[in-house]
Amino acid sequence: MNRVYNFSAGPSMLPLQVLEKAQKELVNYNNSGMSVMELSHRSGWFTDIITEAEQLLRELMGIPENYKVLFLQGGASQQFAAIPMNLFGENKKADYVNTGSWSKKAIKEAEKFGDIRVIASSEDKNFTYIPAVNKGMIDPEAAYVHITTNNTIEGTVFREVPDIGNVPLVADMSSNILSEEIDVSKFGLIYAGAQKNIGPAGLTVVIIREDLIGKAQDNCPTMLDFETHSESGSLYNTPPTFAIYMAKLVFEWIKELGGLKEIEKVNREKADILYRCIEESNMFTSPVEKSSRSIMNIPFVTPSKELDALFVKEAKEAGLETLKGHRSVGGMRASIYNAMPVEGVQALVEFMKKFEQKHQ
Ligand SMILES: *Cc1c(COP(=O)(O)O)cnc(C)c1O
Repeated sequence: MNRVYNFSAGPSMLPLQVLEKAQKELVNYNNSGMSVMELSHRSGWFTDIITEAEQLLRELMGIPENYKVLFLQGGASQQFAAIPMNLFGENKKADYVNTGSWSKKAIKEAEKFGDIRVIASSEDKNFTYIPAVNKGMIDPEAAYVHITTNNTIEGTVFREVPDIGNVPLVADMSSNILSEEIDVSKFGLIYAGAQKNIGPAGLTVVIIREDLIGKAQDNCPTMLDFETHSESGSLYNTPPTFAIYMAKLVFEWIKELGGLKEIEKVNREKADILYRCIEESNMFTSPVEKSSRSIMNIPFVTPSKELDALFVKEAKEAGLETLKGHRSVGGMRASIYNAMPVEGVQALVEFMKKFEQKHQ
């Protein structure tokens, strides 16, 4: 079998064990005589799948009782609109932190619905660091404060959850959910597209504190209203059933590995291996400030665009797939989500060392 090490930012690698389990169950799930893809979303089989998926996610992340877990569609991008439409309340004001391309998109979308204040930004230095955020910056009348915890394209991460007082903190965690332990109770709402650390594309997970549900604007479409999905157990309409099933298998895989504490340890080890290689190299550099470096998405560059292109090409030939940086920043980017084994990062580092020797 010719599996490669896939460094794609998303859709990204899935654990082989999960793919093999899905393959085994593909045409006949649990003696139903049907594929999960063919099961009614109202059937007992699927009810068990979605219930277990939620239970596992609650257990892994330690989600408190007063939070709902919603399994939605539309990607993180749809939440850029759904969040203001649901949380704005009367004042229609919110504070946003601008840490990169995804933050910018979230801000642009929210501006359609009310007054958005950008309270901190790292755009002055090409988003290569995380700006300080503190209580004093927050408008006490803001409905919420929005941050992007891990910036997938720029390779930065909030090392600490900012202390913003009583205003609900809303976080786009698309590219670092389940990568490390977090205290869910510090957030009002967490959302993530599944295709990075949860499962296949098509599923969006929202974790929301109950008191923030039921406040949507009058003109909020039914499908964007969190209350619709909260009251129906994410079964108001047909949910992305197969993606939810795959997410459940991924949650089981994480649990078997020892949960988020263990996953975090491995993730830190992987990131250390790659950052150490970059630090010791005379060819590769990281554009990101040390104190803001992501352990999920790691951009790096050579001194020239030509060498960058050659690196990506030769890496691909060596079975190291999709290392090209995002078109907005260039260079290379290694996305090393939960499913990337330590051996994959070691293979990348070996390749980088050889490449440096060959082309210096
Ligand atoms: C990938 C990504 C998105 C976009 O997700 P979609 O599911 O494609 O809408 C938004 N925010 C972050 C941080 C991401 O990494």
